[in-house]
Amino acid sequence: MPDTSPATPDFHAHIRSELDAIRSAGLFKRERVIGTPQGPVVRTTDGRELINLCANNYLGLSSHPRVLEAAHEALRTHGYGMSSVRFICGTQDIHQALEQRLARFLGTEDAILYAAAFDANGGLFEPLLGEADAIISDELNHASIIDGIRLCKAQLWRYRHNDMADLARCLQEADAKGARFKLVFTDGVFSMDGTIAQLDVMRTLCDRHGALLGIDECHASGFMGATGRGTHEHRGIFGRVDIITGTLGKALGGASGGFTAARREVVELLRQRSRPYLFSNTLAPSIAGASIAVLDMLEGSTALRDQLEMNTHWFRQAISDAGFEIKPGTHPIVPIMVYDAVKAQALSARLLELGVYAVGFFYPVVPKGQARIRVQLSAVHQREQLEAAVQAFAQAGRELGLVR
Ligand SMILES: *Cc1c(COP(=O)(O)O)cnc(C)c1O
Repeated sequence: MPDTSPATPDFHAHIRSELDAIRSAGLFKRERVIGTPQGPVVRTTDGRELINLCANNYLGLSSHPRVLEAAHEALRTHGYGMSSVRFICGTQDIHQALEQRLARFLGTEDAILYAAAFDANGGLFEPLLGEADAIISDELNHASIIDGIRLCKAQLWRYRHNDMADLARCLQEADAKGARFKLVFTDGVFSMDGTIAQLDVMRTLCDRHGALLGIDECHASGFMGATGRGTHEHRGIFGRVDIITGTLGKALGGASGGFTAARREVVELLRQRSRPYLFSNTLAPSIAGASIAVLDMLEGSTALRDQLEMNTHWFRQAISDAGFEIKPGTHPIVPIMVYDAVKAQALSARLLELGVYAVGFFYPVVPKGQARIRVQLSAVHQREQLEAAVQAFAQAGRELGLVR
């Protein structure tokens, strides 16, 4: 590209050197191009058929016929897009219906839709809390929570990951500082380890200190708990979480969109003041319509979340039997520990050659010396596919000297 002004050569040289630094640190992310719909098996555009173990397609709804049909139907009845934010002319009956259905499913009074969960978290804190207030946040909370908190004037305490004694210390300190309102906020499930937040303990601590409890349910809504309502159901505190954020882009259909569910007045104030809601286009009608169908399915039957639970249980056992060390737990996120970053990359590359798509994670995404392959199970994985995947792991693991 020709330079467009005297300032541009320096600027673009600077950007290129930033990119070089990312490359030489071994942190450059490349995107593999898929030519099929999302599913238990995908085909890349270079012709490889891969058993897919790295999508957030927990319930297999990304390409489910009923979801597709509902999306088509909404496309026919409500059009392709609204070309407007909600408060000008971007609210249809299906947007309001979806908000009511989400609230019911999650056990709150009301809910508000966003273009993404990133926006739900980004626009959550600033409208609700001010200088006089305290936010108490798990140190490993998602990037969108961190960004949302940055935009808010409340005082911030960070507690050590999943450490309830340290959370209690933060609550005491916030009390001692005379905080007006305190909001404790955590991922319901943490995406790198599949760690499930101790919401029952957290609720008790919050009650003791008069604090609100908020959770991000992106890796939980739709399948955690006996009827898939989320981590609050799993931990026995359904209906007792003050604020829930989540995504329509993972288990609940996998397209895109996010939400915040809370008491009526909280949602009402977010509609008035939350900037990503006020200044960003409304959710596409096809997504709203399909998401209602998703909730119909999940409220009608627990078959999908039950199948996911069975697949998860089977895979965790089988991969352990194959000699791999996994982070213990019950979540469909299964971290297969390799520890060494180079070996994790080699394992992921060899798995790809063997027809298994599973991505390696290493520093800075996880702590140094904690490199791993993160597998994510889906309800639509067939047993034969999971068996083939475990065999591929075993073969690649033997070749690399990771297992015997
Ligand atoms: C994926 C994720 C998000 C972002 O969700 P989008 O709807 O894709 O923006 C936010 N929080 C957590 C914990 C997530 O895992």
